[in-house]
Amino acid sequence: MIEFLSLKKVNEAYEERFQKAASRVIESGWYVLGEEVNSFEKEYANYCGTNYCVGVSNGLDALKLLLKAYGFGPGDDIIVPSNTQIAPILAISEVGAKPILVEPNPITFTIDPEKVKAKITSKTKAIVVVHLYGRVADMDPIRQIAFEHNLKVIEDSAQAHGAVYKGSRTGSLADASAFSFYPSKNLGAIGDGGAITTNDGVLAEKLFALRNYGSPKKYENLYRGYNHRLDEMQAAFLRIKLQDLDTRNDARRKIATTYLREMKNKHIILPEQPANTAEHVWHLFVIRTSNRTELQRFLNERGIESMIHYPIPPHLQQAYKEMNNESYPISEQIHDEVLSLPLSPVQTDEETQAVIQAINDFVVIESVIHEKQELQV
Ligand SMILES: *Cc1c(COP(=O)(O)O)cnc(C)c1O
Repeated sequence: MIEFLSLKKVNEAYEERFQKAASRVIESGWYVLGEEVNSFEKEYANYCGTNYCVGVSNGLDALKLLLKAYGFGPGDDIIVPSNTQIAPILAISEVGAKPILVEPNPITFTIDPEKVKAKITSKTKAIVVVHLYGRVADMDPIRQIAFEHNLKVIEDSAQAHGAVYKGSRTGSLADASAFSFYPSKNLGAIGDGGAITTNDGVLAEKLFALRNYGSPKKYENLYRGYNHRLDEMQAAFLRIKLQDLDTRNDARRKIATTYLREMKNKHIILPEQPANTAEHVWHLFVIRTSNRTELQRFLNERGIESMIHYPIPPHLQQAYKEMNNESYPISEQIHDEVLSLPLSPVQTDEETQAVIQAINDFVVIESVIHEKQELQV
């Protein structure tokens, strides 16, 4: 069986160091907001190339705290991709603002700057970009649009730790950036965790307070805050894994490059390798096919796990009934066609070859070919 992602294998190499770190934390007698979190914040800010990092409880809370810190709420429109993992949309609605969905470029899967322009009104306050599947969004035109309309740009970097755009890492490409350290992410904890990075000192001060009851100083509440703290144990584990993040992203790139070079099947559209390969950290290797059910069944028979990211577009979710009759044809087609193949930094060459072989062997019985129009770029 080739597992989609074995977290046990991903973390095996760190086990001894994790044990030591765990003992250090237990013996310190200090478990929340202490030296480990402080040190991780410095190290992660340094890694991203920002002045500040604020450790928080998870990626969704990171997004929510950021929107709160900027003061966005009822009456405000926030632009977000229509084909995203749901968290950024949840964060926008949680603060009372309105998510304005914008379709992606179907080749890159990231938000289409031209389509962003068309949705800007006097109510628009910010653009949330998602570096989906590990590929950096087209930041220059997004930042230009934001500059012209005086909007904030927020990165959702939960799938793209370490990806580099024109010499700078995700986390440093906008006004602020949210990260998740959910175990399956490129930088994953042994539980939940998240962070916000920014160069804005005033914003960072506010976030440090907001994550901790709104108190910049113990028992003094400047804001009506939250308990959205990163704990010492997770920070200690993350410090260990951060040292290896670039190596592990390189291992992902190597597998993706092999897949792209050796997979050949007319029924399958492979993801695009960006011209600058540093822009992709391959959180997921997502192919498209109009014969997804058949392909998934075929891979399963070969003992290869695959997953769909994501089966239902946000606007068709029951949680967002008010958007159910809106139409986002590119997103709908993407959600109908995408399939994620196994790709992890600890995948063996044999496993990589078995996945390639299976993809190349997949044939479609002509009568069940589901022809669909090519997506317009
Ligand atoms: C995982 C993820 C999140 C949410 O992170 P959690 O830590 O699970 O809350 C946000 N955005 C994207 C794009 C994600 O993939």
